[in-house]
Amino acid sequence: MSVQDQLRELFTLDQQVRGLRSRVDAASRRLNAQRNKLEQLQRQASEINDQYMHAKASAGNLESDSQGVEERIEKIRKVMAGVRSNKEYSALLVEINTLKAEKDVIEGKALEQLGKVEELQATVDEIAGKVEAQSKLVAGAEKEVEEGQAEIADQLGDLEKERAVAAEPIDPETLALYNKLDEDTEGEALGEIEEQDRRRMEYTCGACFMSLPIQVVNATLTTNDKPVTCPNCGVILYAKTELKEALIPK
Ligand SMILES: [Zn+2]
Repeated sequence: MSVQDQLRELFTLDQQVRGLRSRVDAASRRLNAQRNKLEQLQRQASEINDQYMHAKASAGNLESDSQGVEERIEKIRKVMAGVRSNKEYSALLVEINTLKAEKDVIEGKALEQLGKVEELQATVDEIAGKVEAQSKLVAGAEKEVEEGQAEIADQLGDLEKERAVAAEPIDPETLALYNKLDEDTEGEALGEIEEQDRRRMEYTCGACFMSLPIQVVNATLTTNDKPVTCPNCGVILYAKTELKEALIPK
């Protein structure tokens, strides 16, 4: 088997590994997006909850203020019951009326605040519902990632073994070149020689689409023990069997 054929075997296996991983990678990306959305909703929920607690406390304060004023009115009424002079009575009556007006203002504010509390309560409930729904989506996405990982674990293990067997006969220097290219190009270490025009001897590199000198094409077809690389982009070149058979007379 020529080194090109051995490398193509490796290349095919590496593509399968990438394909497997990409499915899980996509699920991981979806999971992250769902988690971010959940965090955003949780922050929103906590902000609204703070506002709700604040409004509730302030409504409570206003209610106790109003009660305080009521108690003062009651006290004055008791005093009034024992008063004999008209002048003193009138003065206390004025005081009571002033306090009543004050109490009305406070109660108005309390009512307004209670309305706010009710509105905020509705928002709190609404966001809590959204958080719950989003948590379910996150759990679903987590499951998808876990299942994906479990699903590919066996296949990945098999492929790694197959890859080790396929890499065995390749000399270390060639293997190192291939591995580096595979990493640099993210899985595009090999380029197929593409025939554009046989009569004019026009051939291009399948990776960078630049034309290849005929000497490079010939070297690729005839060298079986060493990789030939594209002079332009550096990938390892190979020719499909049909092209080989067509160009090399038996
Ligand atoms: Zn190229």
